Amino acid sequence: MVDGEIAFHRNKYREAGVDLVLGQGRFRAPRTIEVAIADGGTRTLVGDIVVLSTGSRARIDPIPGLAESRPMTHIEALDLDRVPQKLLVLGGGYVGLELAQAQRRFGARVTVIERNEVFAHREDGDVSQVLHELFHDEGIEIRTGVRVERVEGRSGDSVRLRTTGGEVIEGSDILVAAGRVPNTDGIGLETAGIERDRHGFVKVDERLRTTAPGVWAVGDCAGSPHFTHIAFDDFRVVRDNLAGLDRTTTGRLVPYCIFTDPELARVGLSESEAKSRKIAYRVAKLPVSNILRAETLSESRGFLKALVAADSDRILGFTAFSPSGGEIIAVVQIAITAGLSYTALRDAVLTHPTMAEGLGTLFTTVPARS
Ligand SMILES: Cc1cc2nc3c(=O)[nH]c(=O)nc-3n(C[C@H](O)[C@H](O)[C@H](O)COP(=O)(O)OP(=O)(O)OC[C@H]3O[C@@H](n4cnc5c(N)ncnc54)[C@H](O)[C@@H]3O)c2cc1C
Repeated sequence: MVDGEIAFHRNKYREAGVDLVLGQGRFRAPRTIEVAIADGGTRTLVGDIVVLSTGSRARIDPIPGLAESRPMTHIEALDLDRVPQKLLVLGGGYVGLELAQAQRRFGARVTVIERNEVFAHREDGDVSQVLHELFHDEGIEIRTGVRVERVEGRSGDSVRLRTTGGEVIEGSDILVAAGRVPNTDGIGLETAGIERDRHGFVKVDERLRTTAPGVWAVGDCAGSPHFTHIAFDDFRVVRDNLAGLDRTTTGRLVPYCIFTDPELARVGLSESEAKSRKIAYRVAKLPVSNILRAETLSESRGFLKALVAADSDRILGFTAFSPSGGEIIAVVQIAITAGLSYTALRDAVLTHPTMAEGLGTLFTTVPARS
């Protein structure tokens, strides 16, 4: 399947008449890149316009013994041809959670180690609680508020994590999913006058222009939210600006979906964000068990939750922890983008039996304005 995807995209380049040069690039001068060609040799490319899109990689924290333990990142984990006996997942972000659940379902014993006190701390309390319950019910151990100070052993054989609390957590394999670093080091950015911020991301403005004339940066390396759809939208921002149009990254909605089963998807504000920004809201919540389609799927876990402005019928945010959550949020996102009030979704005739049909029921439970 992956081979098919690669062939598909290479074909697209070919059809568009793009000269696809595969190799490691490095700036040698402003807008001048030397490429060490994958098949051997080098090639120097000079562009009027340069778009940087070097992405990011898994961060390996400087914990003594961690790098020496040869931990897996998502790359090795997705390439495994065996099921780890006991997998220790360092980091409870979306990469860690998706891979932890998958490995558990393959039969591995799995422990997720998260340094924050709260699991999925960027989500509302009720969301992190249901995620926690899901993982607990599947037999995945979740350890929060744990800081690893030393790693011993070798992943794939036997590893021991020594925590600052004096505990030893043992496993056969370790997977690091504790954040990302941009691929912006060692590629000659300074030679080309391209500045980075203190986290190493390429400095860009709202049109994704870097500090070097004619050079743009998109996606993870530019510090945009780390999602494929955002990297793609960054491309559209650059494309439109090059075409003389006015398009920026300011204020765009950033939907996302964590592909656990069930999925956790959100667009717009969470309750905690609304509270911290002092935005008054009304909240509506519907258990997944109240949606007939969920019943036909024998799914009862999760909920849909919407935030509506306190003083208008504007939808502020929406979370789905449910089957097809990533599809359902698209409906609400379009409503938000179009400036529709929540009553438009409440009163719409939605197909029965679909998960999206639950939106009609959800929005009937929005409290009246006080
Ligand atoms: C395990 C995992 C799961 C994810 N799942 C999702 C998901 O479900 N949905 C979602 O929206 N996002 C997901 N993401 C995030 C998403 O993959 C990234 O946000 C997205 O790929 C960023 O696109 P990009 O173009 O900035 O970088 P990338 O897609 O990383 O592409 C950068 C490319 O540049 C190449 N490169 C780097 N340096 C050089 C150089 N010097 N010379 C030449 N080439 C170079 C790299 O090899 C790479 O091929 C996931 C990420 C991970 C790690």
